[in-house]
Amino acid sequence: MYDVVIAGGGPAGLSAALTLGRARRRVLVCDAGPRRNAAAEHVHGFLTRDGVTPDALRAHGRADLAAYPGVEVRDVSVLGITGERGAFRVALPEGEVVARRILLCTGLVDELLPIEGFAALWGRSIFQCPYCHGWERRDQRWACLARGPEALHFGPLLRSWTAHVTMLAAPGLPGDVVAGLRAAGLTVEERPIARLVAGPGGLEAIAFTEGPALPCDVLFAHPPQRPVALVTALGLALDEAGLVRADPMTRETSVPGVYAAGDTSTRMQAALQAAAAGAWAGATINGDLAVRGG
Ligand SMILES: Cc1cc2nc3c(=O)[nH]c(=O)nc-3n(C[C@H](O)[C@H](O)[C@H](O)COP(=O)(O)OP(=O)(O)OC[C@H]3O[C@@H](n4cnc5c(N)ncnc54)[C@H](O)[C@@H]3O)c2cc1C
Repeated sequence: MYDVVIAGGGPAGLSAALTLGRARRRVLVCDAGPRRNAAAEHVHGFLTRDGVTPDALRAHGRADLAAYPGVEVRDVSVLGITGERGAFRVALPEGEVVARRILLCTGLVDELLPIEGFAALWGRSIFQCPYCHGWERRDQRWACLARGPEALHFGPLLRSWTAHVTMLAAPGLPGDVVAGLRAAGLTVEERPIARLVAGPGGLEAIAFTEGPALPCDVLFAHPPQRPVALVTALGLALDEAGLVRADPMTRETSVPGVYAAGDTSTRMQAALQAAAAGAWAGATINGDLAVRGG
Protein backbone atom coordinates (compact mmCIF):
# COMPACT_ATOMS: atom_id res chain seq x y z
CA MET A 1 0.00 0.00 0.00
CA TYR A 2 1.41 3.36 -1.07
CA ASP A 3 0.42 6.50 0.76
CA VAL A 4 0.25 8.37 -2.54
CA VAL A 5 0.50 7.45 -6.20
CA ILE A 6 1.44 10.44 -8.33
CA ALA A 7 0.50 10.24 -11.99
CA GLY A 8 2.96 12.42 -13.94
CA GLY A 9 6.63 13.09 -13.30
CA GLY A 10 7.04 16.63 -14.60
CA PRO A 11 7.90 19.60 -12.37
CA ALA A 12 4.60 19.27 -10.47
CA GLY A 13 4.78 15.54 -9.80
CA LEU A 14 8.47 15.45 -8.89
CA SER A 15 8.11 18.41 -6.57
CA ALA A 16 5.13 16.81 -4.82
CA ALA A 17 7.14 13.61 -4.39
CA LEU A 18 9.97 15.58 -2.78
CA THR A 19 7.62 17.12 -0.23
CA LEU A 20 5.95 13.78 0.52
CA GLY A 21 9.26 11.89 0.65
CA ARG A 22 10.63 14.38 3.15
CA ALA A 23 7.46 13.79 5.21
CA ARG A 24 8.40 10.10 5.27
CA ARG A 25 5.51 9.03 3.05
CA ARG A 26 5.61 6.01 0.78
CA VAL A 27 5.16 7.44 -2.71
CA LEU A 28 5.11 6.06 -6.24
CA VAL A 29 5.64 8.47 -9.15
CA CYS A 30 4.55 7.08 -12.52
CA ASP A 31 5.59 8.97 -15.63
CA ALA A 32 5.09 8.06 -19.25
CA GLY A 33 3.83 9.86 -22.27
CA PRO A 34 4.31 13.25 -23.88
CA ARG A 35 5.07 16.22 -21.68
CA ARG A 36 3.89 19.70 -22.52
CA ASN A 37 7.25 21.21 -23.38
CA ALA A 38 8.49 18.19 -25.36
CA ALA A 39 9.15 20.42 -28.37
CA ALA A 40 11.03 23.12 -26.44
CA GLU A 41 14.82 23.24 -26.33
CA HIS A 42 15.14 25.07 -23.01
CA VAL A 43 13.18 25.88 -19.87
CA HIS A 44 13.54 29.56 -19.05
CA GLY A 45 12.55 31.49 -15.96
CA PHE A 46 13.07 28.67 -13.45
CA LEU A 47 15.15 30.24 -10.66
CA THR A 48 18.56 28.53 -10.30
CA ARG A 49 17.89 26.52 -13.52
CA ASP A 50 17.25 29.29 -16.09
CA GLY A 51 17.91 27.87 -19.58
CA VAL A 52 18.18 24.23 -18.52
CA THR A 53 16.99 21.61 -21.01
CA PRO A 54 13.64 19.97 -20.18
CA ASP A 55 15.36 16.60 -19.76
CA ALA A 56 18.00 18.02 -17.43
CA LEU A 57 15.34 19.67 -15.25
CA ARG A 58 13.64 16.31 -14.77
CA ALA A 59 16.97 14.56 -14.16
CA HIS A 60 17.78 17.10 -11.42
CA GLY A 61 14.37 16.44 -9.89
CA ARG A 62 14.80 12.69 -9.92
CA ALA A 63 18.31 13.02 -8.45
CA ASP A 64 16.88 15.00 -5.52
CA LEU A 65 14.32 12.25 -4.88
CA ALA A 66 16.99 9.56 -4.68
CA ALA A 67 17.83 10.71 -1.13
CA TYR A 68 14.39 9.65 0.16
CA PRO A 69 13.86 5.89 0.52
CA GLY A 70 10.07 6.18 0.58
CA VAL A 71 9.95 7.56 -2.98
CA GLU A 72 9.89 5.28 -5.99
CA VAL A 73 9.82 6.49 -9.62
CA ARG A 74 8.72 4.28 -12.48
CA ASP A 75 8.66 5.09 -16.21
CA VAL A 76 5.19 3.68 -16.67
CA SER A 77 1.79 4.97 -17.63
CA VAL A 78 -1.12 4.95 -15.17
CA LEU A 79 -3.74 3.10 -17.17
CA GLY A 80 -6.70 3.61 -14.88
CA ILE A 81 -7.77 4.38 -11.32
CA THR A 82 -10.68 2.79 -9.45
CA GLY A 83 -11.67 2.46 -5.81
CA GLU A 84 -12.03 5.24 -3.31
CA ARG A 85 -10.31 7.45 -0.80
CA GLY A 86 -8.14 5.25 1.43
CA ALA A 87 -7.95 2.38 -1.08
CA PHE A 88 -7.49 3.40 -4.70
CA ARG A 89 -6.54 0.66 -7.13
CA VAL A 90 -4.09 1.96 -9.72
CA ALA A 91 -3.67 -0.04 -12.92
CA LEU A 92 -0.11 -0.09 -14.29
CA PRO A 93 1.24 -2.08 -17.24
CA GLU A 94 2.89 -4.53 -14.81
CA GLY A 95 -0.19 -4.96 -12.60
CA GLU A 96 -2.18 -3.15 -9.93
CA VAL A 97 -0.97 -1.18 -6.91
CA VAL A 98 -3.04 0.27 -4.07
CA ALA A 99 -2.79 3.82 -2.73
CA ARG A 100 -4.50 5.85 -0.03
CA ARG A 101 -4.46 9.05 -2.09
CA ILE A 102 -3.96 9.98 -5.74
CA LEU A 103 -2.25 13.08 -7.09
CA LEU A 104 -2.76 13.93 -10.75
CA CYS A 105 0.14 15.89 -12.25
CA THR A 106 -0.48 14.76 -15.79
CA GLY A 107 -0.14 18.12 -17.53
CA LEU A 108 -2.21 18.93 -20.60
CA VAL A 109 -2.38 18.18 -24.29
CA ASP A 110 -2.10 21.16 -26.64
CA GLU A 111 -4.28 20.60 -29.71
CA LEU A 112 -1.93 22.05 -32.33
CA LEU A 113 -3.73 24.22 -34.86
CA PRO A 114 -4.38 22.85 -38.36
CA ILE A 115 -2.32 25.53 -40.07
CA GLU A 116 0.36 24.30 -42.48
CA GLY A 117 3.74 24.57 -40.76
CA PHE A 118 2.30 25.02 -37.25
CA ALA A 119 3.24 21.63 -35.74
CA ALA A 120 6.83 21.72 -37.03
CA LEU A 121 7.44 25.20 -35.58
CA TRP A 122 5.70 24.68 -32.20
CA GLY A 123 8.25 25.18 -29.41
CA ARG A 124 10.90 26.46 -31.87
CA SER A 125 9.30 29.62 -33.29
CA ILE A 126 5.75 29.33 -31.96
CA PHE A 127 5.30 29.89 -28.25
CA GLN A 128 2.49 30.41 -25.77
CA CYS A 129 4.33 32.40 -23.11
CA PRO A 130 6.50 35.50 -23.59
CA TYR A 131 7.91 35.17 -20.07
CA CYS A 132 9.32 31.78 -21.10
CA HIS A 133 10.77 32.71 -24.50
CA GLY A 134 10.46 36.47 -25.01
CA TRP A 135 13.89 37.51 -23.76
CA GLU A 136 15.75 35.31 -26.29
CA ARG A 137 13.61 36.78 -29.12
CA ARG A 138 13.50 40.42 -27.96
CA ASP A 139 13.29 43.12 -30.66
CA GLN A 140 12.46 40.56 -33.35
CA ARG A 141 9.34 40.61 -35.57
CA TRP A 142 6.50 39.00 -33.62
CA ALA A 143 2.99 38.02 -34.58
CA CYS A 144 0.23 36.85 -32.29
CA LEU A 145 -2.82 34.83 -33.24
CA ALA A 146 -5.83 36.60 -31.71
CA ARG A 147 -8.61 34.07 -31.07
CA GLY A 148 -10.74 35.94 -28.52
CA PRO A 149 -11.05 38.90 -26.12
CA GLU A 150 -7.97 37.79 -24.12
CA ALA A 151 -5.96 39.22 -27.04
CA LEU A 152 -6.83 42.68 -25.69
CA HIS A 153 -4.55 41.89 -22.75
CA PHE A 154 -2.02 39.67 -24.46
CA GLY A 155 -1.32 41.88 -27.50
CA PRO A 156 -0.27 45.01 -25.59
CA LEU A 157 1.70 42.79 -23.17
CA LEU A 158 3.96 41.58 -25.98
CA ARG A 159 5.28 45.11 -26.53
CA SER A 160 7.33 44.66 -23.34
CA TRP A 161 9.74 42.62 -25.50
CA THR A 162 9.53 44.12 -28.99
CA ALA A 163 8.05 47.09 -30.79
CA HIS A 164 7.28 44.89 -33.81
CA VAL A 165 3.99 43.16 -32.96
CA THR A 166 1.32 42.25 -35.52
CA MET A 167 -1.95 40.72 -34.37
CA LEU A 168 -3.43 38.07 -36.69
CA ALA A 169 -7.21 37.96 -36.42
CA ALA A 170 -8.44 34.36 -36.32
CA PRO A 171 -11.62 33.64 -38.32
CA GLY A 172 -14.63 34.92 -36.38
CA LEU A 173 -12.70 37.27 -34.08
CA PRO A 174 -15.35 39.76 -32.90
CA GLY A 175 -15.17 43.21 -34.47
CA ASP A 176 -14.99 44.94 -31.09
CA VAL A 177 -11.81 42.98 -30.28
CA VAL A 178 -10.26 44.02 -33.59
CA ALA A 179 -11.24 47.63 -32.85
CA GLY A 180 -9.83 47.38 -29.32
CA LEU A 181 -6.51 46.07 -30.59
CA ARG A 182 -6.26 48.92 -33.10
CA ALA A 183 -7.22 51.43 -30.41
CA ALA A 184 -4.32 50.06 -28.36
CA GLY A 185 -2.00 50.97 -31.25
CA LEU A 186 -1.47 47.43 -32.54
CA THR A 187 -1.39 46.49 -36.22
CA VAL A 188 -4.13 43.96 -37.00
CA GLU A 189 -3.95 41.67 -40.03
CA GLU A 190 -7.37 40.29 -41.01
CA ARG A 191 -6.43 38.30 -44.11
CA PRO A 192 -6.86 34.51 -43.59
CA ILE A 193 -3.59 32.66 -43.00
CA ALA A 194 -2.62 30.22 -45.76
CA ARG A 195 0.55 28.75 -44.19
CA LEU A 196 3.61 29.44 -42.09
CA VAL A 197 6.81 29.80 -44.10
CA ALA A 198 9.84 28.22 -42.43
CA GLY A 199 13.56 28.30 -43.21
CA PRO A 200 16.55 26.60 -41.57
CA GLY A 201 16.41 28.98 -38.58
CA GLY A 202 12.66 28.64 -37.98
CA LEU A 203 9.71 30.85 -38.88
CA GLU A 204 10.38 33.37 -41.66
CA ALA A 205 6.95 34.65 -42.73
CA ILE A 206 3.20 34.28 -42.50
CA ALA A 207 1.63 33.66 -45.92
CA PHE A 208 -1.98 34.73 -46.46
CA THR A 209 -4.57 33.51 -48.93
CA GLU A 210 -3.96 36.69 -50.91
CA GLY A 211 -1.47 39.53 -51.05
CA PRO A 212 2.10 39.71 -49.80
CA ALA A 213 3.40 37.60 -46.90
CA LEU A 214 4.28 39.13 -43.54
CA PRO A 215 7.96 38.67 -42.58
CA CYS A 216 7.96 37.26 -39.08
CA ASP A 217 10.38 35.56 -36.63
CA VAL A 218 8.08 34.49 -33.80
CA LEU A 219 4.40 33.58 -33.49
CA PHE A 220 2.49 33.48 -30.21
CA ALA A 221 -0.57 31.26 -30.11
CA HIS A 222 -2.76 29.52 -27.57
CA PRO A 223 -4.16 26.34 -29.10
CA PRO A 224 -7.08 24.64 -27.37
CA GLN A 225 -6.02 22.32 -24.54
CA ARG A 226 -7.47 19.11 -23.17
CA PRO A 227 -6.68 16.84 -20.23
CA VAL A 228 -5.00 13.47 -20.81
CA ALA A 229 -7.20 10.38 -21.22
CA LEU A 230 -6.63 9.22 -17.63
CA VAL A 231 -8.14 12.44 -16.25
CA THR A 232 -11.09 12.33 -18.64
CA ALA A 233 -11.84 8.73 -17.69
CA LEU A 234 -11.99 9.64 -13.99
CA GLY A 235 -14.96 11.91 -14.67
CA LEU A 236 -13.65 14.75 -12.53
CA ALA A 237 -15.36 18.13 -12.58
CA LEU A 238 -13.67 20.41 -15.11
CA ASP A 239 -13.94 24.15 -15.57
CA GLU A 240 -15.11 25.85 -18.78
CA ALA A 241 -11.55 25.71 -20.17
CA GLY A 242 -11.35 21.95 -19.58
CA LEU A 243 -9.02 22.25 -16.58
CA VAL A 244 -9.50 20.03 -13.54
CA ARG A 245 -11.36 21.85 -10.78
CA ALA A 246 -9.38 21.60 -7.55
CA ASP A 247 -9.98 23.25 -4.20
CA PRO A 248 -7.70 26.33 -4.16
CA MET A 249 -6.54 25.52 -0.63
CA THR A 250 -6.20 21.74 -0.59
CA ARG A 251 -5.93 20.91 -4.33
CA GLU A 252 -8.51 18.13 -3.81
CA THR A 253 -10.70 17.50 -6.88
CA SER A 254 -14.40 16.67 -7.05
CA VAL A 255 -13.51 13.04 -6.25
CA PRO A 256 -12.55 12.67 -2.56
CA GLY A 257 -8.94 11.58 -2.15
CA VAL A 258 -7.93 12.57 -5.68
CA TYR A 259 -5.83 15.72 -5.88
CA ALA A 260 -4.49 17.71 -8.85
CA ALA A 261 -1.55 20.09 -9.36
CA GLY A 262 0.35 21.72 -12.20
CA ASP A 263 -0.84 22.51 -15.72
CA THR A 264 -3.75 20.10 -15.57
CA SER A 265 -5.51 22.37 -13.11
CA THR A 266 -4.35 25.93 -13.80
CA ARG A 267 -4.11 28.58 -16.49
CA MET A 268 -0.84 29.81 -14.95
CA GLN A 269 1.20 27.31 -16.93
CA ALA A 270 4.93 27.47 -16.27
CA ALA A 271 7.44 25.03 -14.84
CA LEU A 272 8.18 26.94 -11.64
CA GLN A 273 4.48 27.43 -10.93
CA ALA A 274 3.89 23.73 -11.54
CA ALA A 275 6.70 22.81 -9.15
CA ALA A 276 5.29 25.16 -6.50
CA ALA A 277 1.78 23.73 -6.94
CA GLY A 278 3.16 20.21 -6.61
CA ALA A 279 4.95 21.06 -3.37
CA TRP A 280 1.75 22.62 -2.06
CA ALA A 281 -0.37 19.60 -2.98
CA GLY A 282 2.19 17.27 -1.39
CA ALA A 283 1.90 19.18 1.87
CA THR A 284 -1.91 19.23 1.89
CA ILE A 285 -2.09 15.50 1.12
CA ASN A 286 0.36 14.76 3.91
CA GLY A 287 -1.74 16.88 6.25
CA ASP A 288 -4.87 15.01 5.23
CA LEU A 289 -3.20 11.64 5.78
CA ALA A 290 -1.89 12.73 9.17
CA VAL A 291 -5.06 14.38 10.46
CA ARG A 292 -7.93 12.47 8.85
CA GLY A 293 -6.16 9.18 8.15
CA GLY A 294 -7.84 6.64 5.92
C1 LIG B 1 6.42 24.72 -26.14
C2 LIG B 1 6.41 25.02 -24.67
C3 LIG B 1 7.50 25.66 -24.10
C4 LIG B 1 7.50 25.94 -22.74
N1 LIG B 1 8.56 26.61 -22.20
C5 LIG B 1 8.56 26.90 -20.90
C6 LIG B 1 9.64 27.63 -20.31
O1 LIG B 1 10.60 28.01 -20.99
N2 LIG B 1 9.56 27.92 -18.99
C7 LIG B 1 8.52 27.53 -18.22
O2 LIG B 1 8.51 27.80 -17.02
N3 LIG B 1 7.50 26.83 -18.74
C8 LIG B 1 7.49 26.51 -20.06
N4 LIG B 1 6.44 25.84 -20.59
C9 LIG B 1 5.36 25.37 -19.70
C10 LIG B 1 5.85 24.16 -18.90
O3 LIG B 1 6.41 23.19 -19.75
C11 LIG B 1 4.69 23.56 -18.12
O4 LIG B 1 4.03 24.57 -17.39
C12 LIG B 1 5.19 22.49 -17.14
O5 LIG B 1 5.88 21.47 -17.84
C13 LIG B 1 4.00 21.90 -16.39
O6 LIG B 1 4.46 20.92 -15.54
P1 LIG B 1 3.51 19.70 -15.13
O7 LIG B 1 4.33 18.88 -14.21
O8 LIG B 1 2.20 20.21 -14.68
O9 LIG B 1 3.22 18.93 -16.51
P2 LIG B 1 4.22 18.24 -17.55
O10 LIG B 1 5.59 18.85 -17.48
O11 LIG B 1 3.53 18.24 -18.86
O12 LIG B 1 4.35 16.77 -17.01
C14 LIG B 1 3.23 15.90 -17.02
C15 LIG B 1 3.75 14.49 -17.12
O13 LIG B 1 2.67 13.57 -16.90
C16 LIG B 1 2.86 12.48 -17.77
N5 LIG B 1 1.61 11.74 -17.92
C17 LIG B 1 0.48 12.09 -18.57
N6 LIG B 1 -0.45 11.12 -18.46
C18 LIG B 1 0.11 10.13 -17.73
C19 LIG B 1 -0.35 8.86 -17.27
N7 LIG B 1 -1.58 8.40 -17.54
N8 LIG B 1 0.51 8.08 -16.54
C20 LIG B 1 1.75 8.52 -16.23
N9 LIG B 1 2.23 9.72 -16.65
C21 LIG B 1 1.42 10.52 -17.38
C22 LIG B 1 3.33 13.15 -19.05
O14 LIG B 1 3.97 12.23 -19.89
C23 LIG B 1 4.31 14.17 -18.51
O15 LIG B 1 5.61 13.63 -18.38
C24 LIG B 1 6.41 25.54 -21.95
C25 LIG B 1 5.31 24.89 -22.53
C26 LIG B 1 5.30 24.64 -23.88
C27 LIG B 1 4.11 23.96 -24.48
